[in-house]
Amino acid sequence: MTNDKAVVVFSGGQDSTTCLFWALKNFSEVETITFDYGQRHKLEIECATSIATDLGVKQTILDMSLLNQLAPNALTRHDVDIAHEEGQLPNTFVDGRNLLFLSFAAIVAKQAGARHLITGVCETDFSGYPDCRDVFVKSLNVTLNLSMDYDFVIHTPLMWLNKAETWHMSDQLDAFNYIRERTLTCYNGVIGDGCGECPACKLRKAGLDQYLATSIQGGA
Ligand SMILES: [Zn+2]
Repeated sequence: MTNDKAVVVFSGGQDSTTCLFWALKNFSEVETITFDYGQRHKLEIECATSIATDLGVKQTILDMSLLNQLAPNALTRHDVDIAHEEGQLPNTFVDGRNLLFLSFAAIVAKQAGARHLITGVCETDFSGYPDCRDVFVKSLNVTLNLSMDYDFVIHTPLMWLNKAETWHMSDQLDAFNYIRERTLTCYNGVIGDGCGECPACKLRKAGLDQYLATSIQGGA
């Protein structure tokens, strides 16, 4: 336990909730920051808020709706369903989004007197987001420190884990059942094990099945 304050980039999904439990174990004070950019489901924000409330951590929700102005199809966006097409990047995907999110998180963290930033980005399941790579995060850490004359430390506890290993970590943190039941991954907005049919559910279930097949859960 570090006698220090941390801010977790928090969406209410499996990965960031695992990071939140990791932070609660490793830091004496923890806050969360959630970005509202017109998610496919408002439920995603509500889910994040309910977890933050339940765990007794402060949540700052930042309006990032301006990202929609930068999305590739922004000009015709009023004709377009903002929801994910199955198996594709969201049509509101913006280059450098994680760069922006982590930079805003750093500003909030410094104002809150926190040095530690925690994000659930992961290079193992690298899915086309260059600003989720370890080399980028390390580079940004240096840039943030220089830009604000402050000693941030960006932590990426999931960087080298696959989905099954992330479930294992949640189990080690005594949060396996909580994360399984309370987090939202599903594109159709079904909390917990989800709809079972969408690509996000299938990916989550594959990792879960792999973990359950190779391990005896701590909670069992
Ligand atoms: Zn689903």
